[in-house]
Amino acid sequence: MTTSNVRVRFAPSPTGPLHIGGVRTALYNYLFARQHGGQFIFRIEDTDSTRFVPGAEDYIIESFRWLGINFDEGVGIGGDCGPYRQSERRDIYIRYVQQLLDAGAAYYAFDTPEELTARREQEANFQYDASTRMSMRNSLTLGIDQARRMVADGVPYVVRFLIQPGEDVHVDDIIRGDVCINSSVLDDKVLWKSADGLPTYHLANIVDDHLMRVTHVIRGEEWLPSSPLHVLLYRAFGWADTMPRFAHLPLLLKPDGKGKLSKRDGDRLGFPVFPLEWHDPKSGEVSSGYREKGYLPEAVINFLALLGWNPGDDQELMSLSEMVQKFDLAKCSKNGARFDYVKGFWFNREYLMRRSDNELAPAFVHLLAEQGITTTEERAAVVISLMKSKVIEYETKDGPRKRNISFISDLWPLCRFFFVAPTTFNREDKFIRKNWNETSAEEMRLLRTQLADVDDFSVEGIKAVIDPWVEANGLKPWNAWRVCLVGEGQGPDMYALAAFLGKEETLRRMDYAIATL
Ligand code: GLU
Repeated sequence: MTTSNVRVRFAPSPTGPLHIGGVRTALYNYLFARQHGGQFIFRIEDTDSTRFVPGAEDYIIESFRWLGINFDEGVGIGGDCGPYRQSERRDIYIRYVQQLLDAGAAYYAFDTPEELTARREQEANFQYDASTRMSMRNSLTLGIDQARRMVADGVPYVVRFLIQPGEDVHVDDIIRGDVCINSSVLDDKVLWKSADGLPTYHLANIVDDHLMRVTHVIRGEEWLPSSPLHVLLYRAFGWADTMPRFAHLPLLLKPDGKGKLSKRDGDRLGFPVFPLEWHDPKSGEVSSGYREKGYLPEAVINFLALLGWNPGDDQELMSLSEMVQKFDLAKCSKNGARFDYVKGFWFNREYLMRRSDNELAPAFVHLLAEQGITTTEERAAVVISLMKSKVIEYETKDGPRKRNISFISDLWPLCRFFFVAPTTFNREDKFIRKNWNETSAEEMRLLRTQLADVDDFSVEGIKAVIDPWVEANGLKPWNAWRVCLVGEGQGPDMYALAAFLGKEETLRRMDYAIATL
């Protein structure tokens, strides 16, 4: 079962925060690598210095650390194919660019940006290819000797890939099958620029996949149009025999409407499109992240795993190791996967409920601290246990909806009264109108007297005194008592609440309500 020559890579460009689609790509590579007992490489493709964003690389590394997706080789890890940051591999690329030039598979081009712009303005649909290259300033038209002299004289240039027109280029894609594109539609892509001494994405990507012995290229659908060019590059280098197999994953689509998922969809509908919160170093803009929104990493992983693949049965909840077993690249869908963020809530709830109250307590303590409330993990765990099965209302563009508690942060609006005593009572409130009448204050006074005598103020201790008293006097004090302690018609069992508050606070809240209402 183990074909341990399997080597896959995740190769992001550090141009900003990692998009959630990129996380899905990395996850599928990870599952594939682990399933085959192969290696998973982390490479940084930073040859486009104009798009470099400081902090992006650290952000990407931190994202995978949080998600628990680990690499075997790469930036920050090491390995025998390093360096794994492309900007540190300049000398390597120069050798391979030279190889293509020597073989006549690439050529020098001296056209200035102004010349190219002018040409594009003259000719609609201008493309630098077989139909135009002989009318441009390059080593094909000027002759190789003059071109070499110009290069030696320091004239800026690029190296372009020479694409022969009229050939059907086949890409054998694991997910899509045979994808065929005629080479005539491709342009002579720039492979290298003297301006910064760096290759472009295409050249660096192919050279590195080859040198890093990558066997499978699993990446987003947006790279499918580049793949015929990549096939031609492999051939030009003479590496066709060891060319990796391609698998282009389906796009992530908007939750509603048409087109691919964008950050704007997240902003509009209220869900993050980035794994971690991102602080844009230039604009200062802050974009929300799954981690800071209170998603659990295992929920995010499970949710993403099923966007574009499913195990073929009805199982939705899967541990990472189950996914590793069941994952099947060939069964990934060709069609885009709708980003059903509400399903994300559901996954988070499922994983939240799998954690014990004690495990959830630190996050709740942290959240309470942000509200100015200091409490212990023990007390936080009690509140969680009493309230985690409640339902909350949330806003959607079609009006309010109800859902189960899916985040620790859902608890705060529901649990405020555990920590903050009610100070005002809304007399218009339906529950208060119905449950606080002329006899309520007196009834509460009587209950207060009983409670004041309870020595053991635990749930059992209170119950042992109050249950018989209620029975003997034929009273139903519960809802009025709730008004006193909660201030409205929600919350847990009254004995549990009173025990949590303790005798002093319980009596204090009752006195206040009796005096106020
Ligand atoms: N650097 C590319 C990216 O940012 C990598 C594409 C590939 O996997 O070939 O996604």
